[in-house]
Amino acid sequence: MYTGQGVDVFEEAKQRSLQDYLEAALGVSAYKSGSQVRMDACPHCGHSLAGSGKLRIKGDRTWQCYGCGLFGSIIDAAMWLTPGCETPLLAAKDITGGNTPPAISPVERQKQIDADNRKVEWQVWVNQRIHEATRQRFDPAVWDYLVRTRGLSPDVVTEAWHRGMLGSMPANRDQATLWLSSVVGDTELHYAGLWKEDSPSPWIAGRPLVQFVDTKQYAEFRVLFKPTNPKTKKSLAVGKPGVPYYWKGSNSSRCLVTEGCLELLAALSMGYPGDMIATAGTGSWRISWFKGLADKGVKVFDLAFNNDHRVDPSTGQISNPGKECQVELARELQSIGLQCADASPKEVGDINDALLRLRQKSQ
Ligand SMILES: [Zn+2]
Repeated sequence: MYTGQGVDVFEEAKQRSLQDYLEAALGVSAYKSGSQVRMDACPHCGHSLAGSGKLRIKGDRTWQCYGCGLFGSIIDAAMWLTPGCETPLLAAKDITGGNTPPAISPVERQKQIDADNRKVEWQVWVNQRIHEATRQRFDPAVWDYLVRTRGLSPDVVTEAWHRGMLGSMPANRDQATLWLSSVVGDTELHYAGLWKEDSPSPWIAGRPLVQFVDTKQYAEFRVLFKPTNPKTKKSLAVGKPGVPYYWKGSNSSRCLVTEGCLELLAALSMGYPGDMIATAGTGSWRISWFKGLADKGVKVFDLAFNNDHRVDPSTGQISNPGKECQVELARELQSIGLQCADASPKEVGDINDALLRLRQKSQ
C-alpha cells in the first residue's frame, strides 16, 4: 500500500541499526552491561568517561540517556547529531541517504569528557549541600506522598530520613527555586548543569523527593505524581553513579536486590529483615557489589526485580524485561558461586505495588 513518501522514508530510516549509526557518529563502541547494551556517549550530551554507561540502547531501536535524561529513536539521534536536520523528515532522508555525521576528533572527545567530568564533580557537591540542608525539616507534601500514595510505613520513612537515604525540598517549584538559590547558589547550579540560562527554574525544582546513596555522591530527584506526558521524567539522576542504594538490616545473612530506592523501602515496610540493595539510576548492576556483600557475610541474595509481564496487543508476544534482568543476574551470581532466590512479586508490578495490595486488603 502506498502511504505517501514521508511515511516510507520514516519506516526505512527506522529499519537501520541504531547501534551501528551511533557507533559511527560518536566514534565509540557499545558494550554489554548486565543484560543491557550501553555506550559512554550520547547523541545529545556528548562523551563521558569510559564505563559511565550513560546511554542505553534498547532493541537496536531506541536510546535513553541517564546523563541528560533524553531518549528517542535513530531519527531523534540524527536531529541532535547532524547540522541541517531540523525536522524529523530531513533527518529520516539523511539517514536513508546513507549519511552518518563524522565522528568527532579524539581531542574534541577528550574536551567533552573533561567538561562532563567537571559538571559531575559540581553535581556531587550540590548533592552534599542538599543533603545537609534537608536534615532539618521534612516537607509535609513529600511525607504524604510516601505514606499515603506509596503506602510506606511512617517508621520506615522516618528511619530512612535519619539514615540519610531520604531528603525533601519544597514541593512548590517557585519555592524550591528560592530554596535552591539560597542553599546551593545560582552559579553552582549552572556549573553543575542543573540550571540552563534560559530556564526560569533549575531542573530539579518541582522534584521534591530526594533519594541519596550512602556516599551522597549520587542522588535521584523525583516528582510526586505519575507524569501524564511520557516525555516527563519521573526522576532526574544527579552526580556520580556506580554504587547502589544500600540498607543495613538486622539479619545480614540475606540481602534483597531491587530496582529502586522506593521498592527497597516498600520491602522494609513489609518487614524484610535482611540487608538490601537497589540499583540506582542506570538500572544496571555491577558484580563487584555482590562479591563485596558476600565477603561481609551475605549467604543468599533474594532477587526482587519488577514483574513487568506484558502482552503486545498486536503480536500477542509476551515480554518481561524485569524478569529477564533477574534471570541474567541469577545466572551471573551462580557462575561465581553465590546463592540466590526468587523474591519477585507474583502479581504484575513491583514490590511497592505488592505493598499497596497488602494495605488495601487490611483496610
Ligand atoms: Zn545525554
